[in-house]
Amino acid sequence: MIEVRDLSRSYGALKAVDQVSFDIGRREIVGLLGHNGAGKTTIMKMLTGYLEPSAGSIRIDGQDIAAHRRAVQRKIGYLPENCPLYPDMTVLEHLDYQGALHGIANRARAAAIRRAIERTELGAKATATVATLSRGYRQRLGVAAALLHEPDVLILDEPTNGLDPSQIQHMRALIREQASHATVIISTHILQEVEAVCGRVLIMHAGRLAVDSPIGAIGATPRLRVTLDRDPGEVRGLLAELPGISAVSHVGDEDGRRGYALTTDDPDAAAPRVAAAVTGQGWALYGLERERYDLEALFGQIADGQAAAPFGELAGEQPGAAAPAREAAHV
Ligand code: ATP
Repeated sequence: MIEVRDLSRSYGALKAVDQVSFDIGRREIVGLLGHNGAGKTTIMKMLTGYLEPSAGSIRIDGQDIAAHRRAVQRKIGYLPENCPLYPDMTVLEHLDYQGALHGIANRARAAAIRRAIERTELGAKATATVATLSRGYRQRLGVAAALLHEPDVLILDEPTNGLDPSQIQHMRALIREQASHATVIISTHILQEVEAVCGRVLIMHAGRLAVDSPIGAIGATPRLRVTLDRDPGEVRGLLAELPGISAVSHVGDEDGRRGYALTTDDPDAAAPRVAAAVTGQGWALYGLERERYDLEALFGQIADGQAAAPFGELAGEQPGAAAPAREAAHV
């Protein structure tokens, strides 16, 4: 449904988005993650045709957005960051205006507005002016406007920002429901949100795509983490020879101790063998545990610039590779 190839956008010398490529299939829900300034909003603006790429291409439903911008935009519903609304309009007037902008014919518009209001539970505020709405209701109005024309692609920049816990649950249910007929991309800073609603995650880091993974694959390849005070050569010589260990990666040092990640199909069976081999050499064993490997851990590693090693392995690549994250991370 969405094909992005070598997409880049610069602001002067700053590469806000740098050679990003991915494909998103019909009815996928994809979470776009990354720290502040990672490039998420810039990607969303380019996907919606509001910002021109410096290089690269975007095709939506087979159509190149550069050549068919208007036609592509008709297929997209977009909730921008800090959703801009007209304060003097009522909820109904705002939706009617948005419906007209989307080209929804007069006779169909009332039904479309009713549907969008029901879905976002805005009924109680239908005649309230935007200026009097709480942040959560404004957010819901932004989502209602994005849904109005039944888009094939829904792009939501931080859709649960400002919502209370029950509204968040409702918004997540709404996003899941949309995926029965639309492709959904959401950007968020809430990792649980991605785990709760998305089938796949894209993680941006400094303009590059650092991770592209199905949610189910994160944590699917547990590793053993062992902490020693021995050099990588010695450690590899001992541990890589053990049955059931297919790779030994040096993943970082702390307080003079060296951390290694051991790839194994069965960490529980391998752990006693590792302990026996280490103590058999008379080495000190400072730590031996299953590596915590969930979305939060992965996100933290990306922030620390360590993502290529663990994710490379997750993605079935060589662990420890110093390749650019985008290449190491693709599944
Ligand atoms: P956040 O989570 O804070 O919303 P983001 O991942 O959405 O961040 P972007 O808004 O895409 O990040 O910004 C990416 C980079 O591009 C940042 O360094 C930002 O300062 C810069 N940037 C964005 N828009 C402009 C602009 N119009 N002019 C100059 N620099 C910009």
